[in-house]
Amino acid sequence: MNARCPFCGATVMPRSRFCPACGRALLSPPSSQRSTSPPAGANDPPIEGALANGKRLQISGDTLDLRELINVVESSVRWWQRGLSSSDAVTREQAARAIDDLSQIMRSLSQQLAQGRTTIRMTRRLPALRAFDVACPSCGNGNRAGARFCQRCGALLHTAPRYGVESVQSRALTFHIATRTDTGRVRQQNQDAVYAGDIDLPGQQKAYLCLVADGMGGAAAGEYASHLAADVSRAYLERESADHPPPTDEAWQALLRDAVRAANRQIYDAARTDTTRRGMGTTLTIALLVGNRLHIASVGDSRAYLLNLNGVTDDGAPSAQLTSDHSLVARLVDIGQLTPEQARTHPQRNILYRSIGTDPSVDVDTRSEALEPGDIVLLCSDGLVNHVSDEEIAQIALGEPDLDRATARLISLANERGGRDNISVVMVRVEGEIR
Ligand code: CA
Repeated sequence: MNARCPFCGATVMPRSRFCPACGRALLSPPSSQRSTSPPAGANDPPIEGALANGKRLQISGDTLDLRELINVVESSVRWWQRGLSSSDAVTREQAARAIDDLSQIMRSLSQQLAQGRTTIRMTRRLPALRAFDVACPSCGNGNRAGARFCQRCGALLHTAPRYGVESVQSRALTFHIATRTDTGRVRQQNQDAVYAGDIDLPGQQKAYLCLVADGMGGAAAGEYASHLAADVSRAYLERESADHPPPTDEAWQALLRDAVRAANRQIYDAARTDTTRRGMGTTLTIALLVGNRLHIASVGDSRAYLLNLNGVTDDGAPSAQLTSDHSLVARLVDIGQLTPEQARTHPQRNILYRSIGTDPSVDVDTRSEALEPGDIVLLCSDGLVNHVSDEEIAQIALGEPDLDRATARLISLANERGGRDNISVVMVRVEGEIR
């Protein structure tokens, strides 16, 4: 529900600071009134799938079956049970603690199921980015089509849309990229893989590919999985887009899904044929920047963020997560069993219900967004977000002019706070003229 301007009575968007009709500053921003529109895809019909045990489960883009989560917990318990017969006392102790944690999670999920809940709706932090496409000539803030005054500074707006075909073609964006990965303070090995590079497209155009993969599995298996995911998806994208780049957002997303599935198949096959690599897997989050479009694909809990001092969401927030975490604790937050703060330090936060290489097929999340000058696209592994909050990431990424130093500062901060896991960051800064 929208609020009204106290001066002229016009409808005011939630959190507007100036009236779109009369341009006067609003006395108190109606910040408590958040948009109540359903998230994108909320009305998609669910897809029925069959489980191996004959039960049916429902999966759609926005929901996850509770039984599927319980299956993940059960298989994790089975995995830790092997540790109970280890010759090493520390491993046995660790396994017993993990099984205890998982039993508590199982209890909470079972209670939800007993109360009649069968699916969990995933939290979508970003129903839509930048629905506001009219740039303010004074401060650069985005405003909705049809707005007469800037909702941030009150200046009179020109009405030309920001993302018209003409402006897209005449505005050349350039990309500056920095990557950094670090073992952290606790682990012996770095099982993360990062990559950034360009792909030649026809007509002297280029696409820029960035990715983060966070491997898991014993000994060298996790490292092998993350690097294989990076290599296979990169080679696939280079090969398939070089001669015939996809013409639409949907086609780029389909290509990204195919690339991620090619990686999934190779890792899954390698894990089955090589007993030392059994059970290995990896996350994979890819950002592909083409012209003024950003295409994202992700599986697991490595994240992509879009950042801009001028705001990236409808309510002007400077930072937004573009990916869902496919982790057990993220869904426990969705059903109110954990707070986001508890999830960051939860002992079972590594348990993913979707990853590359652990099943013969995989669902891949994809999305496309418009890029603007001043944007920063940031990819990272969970080793960063376990120690550094979204607000701190935004502050450092947007406040440090030297991109390479920004990645170093983010990693240092995670290490100062314990560096429990491998830490990887890829940053792309988008530069160009604001028209
Ligand atoms: Ca990790």
